[in-house]
Amino acid sequence: MEHAEILISGAGIVGLSIARELLRRGYENIVLLEKETDVGKHASGRNSGVLHAGIYYAPGSTKAQTCLRGNRMMREYCREKGLPLEQSGKVIVASSHDEHERLLALYDRARTIGAAVSLIDTKELAEIEPAAATVEKAIHSPETAVINPKRIVQHLVKDITADGRARILFETAFVRPIRPGLALTTSGPLRYRRFINASGAYSDVVAQAFGLGHAYQLVPFKGLYRQLVPERRGMIRGSIYPVPDIRNPFLGVHFTKSVAGEVHIGPTAIPALGRENYSLFGGLDAEAFRFAWRDVVLFTRNAKFRTIALTEPRKYMFSQFFKDASKLVKHLNPTDIAPSSKVGIRPQLVNVQTNELVMDFLVEEHDGDIHILNAISPAFTSSFAFAETIADLFDSQETKTPDHNDPA
Ligand SMILES: Cc1cc2nc3c(=O)[nH]c(=O)nc-3n(C[C@H](O)[C@H](O)[C@H](O)COP(=O)(O)OP(=O)(O)OC[C@H]3O[C@@H](n4cnc5c(N)ncnc54)[C@H](O)[C@@H]3O)c2cc1C
Repeated sequence: MEHAEILISGAGIVGLSIARELLRRGYENIVLLEKETDVGKHASGRNSGVLHAGIYYAPGSTKAQTCLRGNRMMREYCREKGLPLEQSGKVIVASSHDEHERLLALYDRARTIGAAVSLIDTKELAEIEPAAATVEKAIHSPETAVINPKRIVQHLVKDITADGRARILFETAFVRPIRPGLALTTSGPLRYRRFINASGAYSDVVAQAFGLGHAYQLVPFKGLYRQLVPERRGMIRGSIYPVPDIRNPFLGVHFTKSVAGEVHIGPTAIPALGRENYSLFGGLDAEAFRFAWRDVVLFTRNAKFRTIALTEPRKYMFSQFFKDASKLVKHLNPTDIAPSSKVGIRPQLVNVQTNELVMDFLVEEHDGDIHILNAISPAFTSSFAFAETIADLFDSQETKTPDHNDPA
């Protein structure tokens, strides 16, 4: 029977970054289980590719502590490995006086948590991002960058498996623990000493198989994108974002020029009915009823969710999507926007007691096992710094953890 010192379920950016950090600290025989044939099939390969710069997050939150540091670490990694990286910056613009008030509050929050941002006027905005439109001021974030997320996860696979101390078992899913130290996978049983759950959209299912995470339920949100037609890509230099409602975890439809020069517009945050519901009816199963029921409960009990549920699905309609996009830039025509096949799902957790969307990353631990729940945006940006936090926790438990497979 296979034996892993450390078994990690999920080889997305979170699982891979943790494996990398544990290897750096001298651990060996790390096995990652990945249910797909390759990495980057889900959130880690389907995101906006933006390295956020620590602007939006509640002071003291794990997001605030890891985002900017993670951004800098990831930029360093891309430079060192020759991976695509553009530090093209971002502006956040206000489309009304009410939004302008919120923009000023956002600026204060960003400064409080240490983001390198400046408040710029329309003249400065025109120099940085000529097509962007704002009411009065805008926020400029020069540390925001774009990367190719798929290339990064693929490169991490090479890095962490290079000397044989870590392996990835593809097409192998973690099913459930048989007993402490023994896991059932779709390729058979596997013994392990320590376990880390980094299963992305299935983290809650895996945690629940260990008797954890019962205070939360998952609500998937679909992020659809469109794109600028090639002739109009030149109008955008970096990223243009709206002022978000920071009580929700979504940043709003934005323009982002990718490292390949395409300009994506999106993503939406439309309540979805499946963890992998990328197409209209694809990825739906019996769980769809549970997701629908949770949406109904949230709709009746949570005013912020109600706003999302009433506004976001309208963005399936081109006219509504266009209306949102055209608030951010001057002179946008409907013919400037083309469809895009890019789509992602955000596996958002809800606290079932409070009916609130969980805003921060969550970590639950038991008996030396670590479960990472709610690794939502900006978890890609944060991943290297977050992996250090998880590895510190892992180290701190090392002396206390019994070896379940030790015959003594
Ligand atoms: C539309 C969208 C846009 C985003 N934009 C950004 C952005 O610009 N910047 C940013 O920083 N973040 C962004 N994010 C968030 C970011 O992509 C995610 O937070 C991050 O990728 C989560 O990584 P993960 O490793 O937890 O999950 P995943 O990438 O989903 O990886 C989890 C892996 O676990 C595997 N798995 C699941 N269950 C099992 C099992 N039982 N056994 C074995 N394997 C299993 C899955 O196949 C998957 O490969 C965005 C997300 C979305 C959806």
